[in-house]
Amino acid sequence: MLSETNATGLFRMEYKTHVVPVKKNIALVAHDKKKGELVEWSLRHKEELAGHNLFATGTTGSLLEKELEMPLTKFISGPLGGDQQIGALISENKLDLLVFFWDPFESQPHDPDVKALLRIAAVWNIPVACNQSSADFMFSSSLMQQTHERRIPDYEKYLKSRPF
Ligand code: PGA
Repeated sequence: MLSETNATGLFRMEYKTHVVPVKKNIALVAHDKKKGELVEWSLRHKEELAGHNLFATGTTGSLLEKELEMPLTKFISGPLGGDQQIGALISENKLDLLVFFWDPFESQPHDPDVKALLRIAAVWNIPVACNQSSADFMFSSSLMQQTHERRIPDYEKYLKSRPF
């Protein structure tokens, strides 16, 4: 079993394997000036997207629903808490991929939430695409059409390993 320890040697996380199904739960988010790019990318990948369950922050979701003519689950708008709703689902292991076109040229009122979402995606080992090329690479992976194993934190084991 793999484990990790931080510089102080006090933190030790155990990991386990989660099997990601063929039909994946995909979260789509784009900042305002990146929404056009996400729509364009989504239209190019409409056929592949149709085989999965789609989730999105409020405004991104409304736009995609209209352009793709495809049902998707919409959360509240990002600045109102939508990024955190997506992060919560990731930590509950209910989302498998994140396509997040964040804007590198503008700070956002909800920058702390953006950082939190990216952090939690890293914690839970979720594939994240932050621009069209990385999303193209992600979607050209053979793993998109098959189950695959993802290493995730084993919190129960971690709790048992604590000295209290
Ligand atoms: P929005 O949120 O889809 O509601 O615009 C995206 C974000 O800024 O996180």
